[in-house]
Amino acid sequence: MILDGKSIAKEMLEEVRKGVSEIGKISMASVAYQEDQESIVYFNSIKKNAEKVGINFVPLVIKGDELMDTIYKINSNPEIDAVIVGRPFPKGITNEMVSEALDPDKDADCVTYQNMGQLYFGAERIAPATSRAAVDILTRNNVDLKGKNALIVNRSVTVGRPLSQLLLNRDATVTVAHSKTRDIDKLVEENDLIFLAVAKPGYLKSSSIKSRKIVVDIGINVVEGKVKGDFEVDSTNQLVDYSPVPGGVGAVTSVEILKNVLELAKAR
Ligand code: NAP
Repeated sequence: MILDGKSIAKEMLEEVRKGVSEIGKISMASVAYQEDQESIVYFNSIKKNAEKVGINFVPLVIKGDELMDTIYKINSNPEIDAVIVGRPFPKGITNEMVSEALDPDKDADCVTYQNMGQLYFGAERIAPATSRAAVDILTRNNVDLKGKNALIVNRSVTVGRPLSQLLLNRDATVTVAHSKTRDIDKLVEENDLIFLAVAKPGYLKSSSIKSRKIVVDIGINVVEGKVKGDFEVDSTNQLVDYSPVPGGVGAVTSVEILKNVLELAKAR
């Protein structure tokens, strides 16, 4: 089975649209520094969805050394309900600096210490968009996570770490692997759910899978102009259900951002 992200994104977008219409005016901003074309493209896709659900979207493109000032200005601007900041940050700006500077009540991608901390205490008013997309793509396909063994191949602050908390909150048993982990093939064999965010095309091949599993592919790689994930699909292997790239987690991620924005606006 293919776990399709596009239909889930559509369903969630409609839920957000209803929520926004109950609240009235909501505005969000994106901040990308001018060399960061990837974030600019990503924010354009969020803007398109924001407009579909009635959220006013203000895209800001700035010079790298303007980032912290821009964050402080947005914090004190009553017209902006939430903001997303492009990564990687410009030279000299760290995750910690942005996590501390941003107002947690305007934190559209759950990057502040306060919101990340809430997640670790089991509360999920908002959540990092990519990680929650990886979970929602399963739960909205009626995959029960309770008691499942889950392997995450990634330990980054944006993907693997928050994903481990979201899965623990849903009673999965979680293993987090990374580049120094020994014998990942054995871990793949032992787990029911495999989350891949390694940024290596063909990192896991479906032909190597010998027992029933679900693979959630989060990786994004551009190979000869085409977007590919980390999972190499062989449709003859009936043991694997998977979310594709493109059209899987990525399709849901931008809607998760808008879901966060709605939650933040509700609380204002
Ligand atoms: P990252 O910080 O570079 O993380 C990569 C992770 O993979 C690290 O934990 C790294 O281990 C691990 N790794 C690398 N080589 C490995 C190997 N041979 N075996 C096992 N683990 C290995 O990148 P990221 O920002 O988390 O993003 C990861 C991928 O997810 C990228 O392809 C990115 O484009 C994609 N992504 C997708 C979305 C979406 O919306 N779909 C959003 C964000 C990111 P170490 O920690 O030991 O280095």
